Amino acid sequence: MKRLITAVAAAGLLLGSGALASDHEHKEHKGGHWSYSGDTGPAHWGELKDEFFMCKEGKNQSPIDISRVIDAKLPKMDITYSGNAVSVVNNGHTIKVNTEGSNVIIVDGVKFTLKQFHFHTPSENLIKGESFPMEAHFVHLDKDNNIAVIGIMFVEGKRNPAIDKFLSKLSSKVNEEKKLSEMFNPGELFPKQLDYYRFNGSLTTPPCTEGVRWLVLKATVEASKEQLDKMRKIMGKNNRPVQPLNARCVLQ
Ligand SMILES: [Zn+2]
Repeated sequence: MKRLITAVAAAGLLLGSGALASDHEHKEHKGGHWSYSGDTGPAHWGELKDEFFMCKEGKNQSPIDISRVIDAKLPKMDITYSGNAVSVVNNGHTIKVNTEGSNVIIVDGVKFTLKQFHFHTPSENLIKGESFPMEAHFVHLDKDNNIAVIGIMFVEGKRNPAIDKFLSKLSSKVNEEKKLSEMFNPGELFPKQLDYYRFNGSLTTPPCTEGVRWLVLKATVEASKEQLDKMRKIMGKNNRPVQPLNARCVLQ
């Protein structure tokens, strides 16, 4: 019975794709590209490709303005980074640094391992209405590919040595990944104080997948004006606007 249903469904798909070939191709073509402005900007992401539907239909979307906060005695952040940042790439949307080794956070008793971190200028999340010049996202996955992201806000100040370690290696070519000559512990980009806000959200880029555990640090990290200018120049403005909180709570 299962096999029969599959066969019927496949026939339906074939007929459908024949009838709508030109429309489909156009959609696919357009769907390959999203951006931060104009026709392919955040307001249109949900229409660019079927797979992006959560960008317009989701009710737990990121980023948000962290303003209504509930006191909840959150556990101390359980983080053990002992691996390394190993390579850097400008993927056309962000500067992304790939990581290897055991960089682990425990959230709700579940182990999440850091895969990469990347940047947004200006910040995507706001804290009590305040925007920051840059926000870093540390993206972790558990064994079932659930996602936990740590957000860290950057302010203008002292030069940040860790940022130079990947900026100096970054290729000017989009999608050309470069190995770092000086690998470093991703924890070097963290502030000392690890108090955080916690909420449920989504990826801030298509397909805007929900079910993401967000942990945004309260303490900020410094980077020099020169470094921030350079990041901004490479990435452009790559922040999705804040999304409605709807039924969610932000805990601290
Ligand atoms: Zn991000």
